[in-house]
Amino acid sequence: MSKKNFDYARRLTSNFQDYFFPKNCLNCGKEGSWLCESCINSLFFMDARFCPFCGALSDIHAVCKKCEKEIGISAVFSLFKYNDSLVRKIIKNFKYRYIKDIGYELEPIFRKFIFKYKNLIDFEDAVLIPVPLHPRKEKERGFNQAELLANIISEILNISVNAKCVKKCKKTKNQAKLDTDERLKNLTGAFRLIGDAPKKAVIVDDVFTTGATVREITNILRSAGTEKIQIITFARG
Ligand SMILES: [Zn+2]
Ligand SMILES: [Zn+2]
Repeated sequence: MSKKNFDYARRLTSNFQDYFFPKNCLNCGKEGSWLCESCINSLFFMDARFCPFCGALSDIHAVCKKCEKEIGISAVFSLFKYNDSLVRKIIKNFKYRYIKDIGYELEPIFRKFIFKYKNLIDFEDAVLIPVPLHPRKEKERGFNQAELLANIISEILNISVNAKCVKKCKKTKNQAKLDTDERLKNLTGAFRLIGDAPKKAVIVDDVFTTGATVREITNILRSAGTEKIQIITFARG
């Protein structure tokens, strides 16, 4: 989406929602937004110093050398820990109560994170790839929360989003109740590449849990020629 259309869509949604559903901060109840400035600023960024795949010590936000070689992902940037109650509330309302507007309100915090870790983040000339939803699920929800976050990051860094190159073609079981092996099995063949794979990709999602989803997408991208893959998510479980 162009920046102009994106701003317009944001304004339109925002006006519509203000009118019909007055917003209150999910945390303190203050009127005017879903996340008041003081509550969102009370969250601490996750300074992850362990590998998101095996738990071994690693550089900040980095994947350990062994997993990087094996999986093909070099870094996983997650803003916050999922076990924080406000973070969980944000995800729950954004994803399950379908409050699209919350996504737009996360823009300043993504900007702050990207600025803070600008020396570690290597997104230059990368293409942002949001984790796709199955078309039926996207229709049900009305939007893809990962795509919305990708659009925000795209605006901040002025890099492109390709929400069409990876398609979810198989409806999968809810991952929450499955262990890592079951998750990987559940996702086998769930995604398909449409068109060309970028040389450098950043996969965007709302939550990183075991990494099964991004691993599956990584396999597809790498076998089609993507050389560098990083991940950015709002939260890490
Ligand atoms: Zn608040
Ligand atoms: Zn590791």
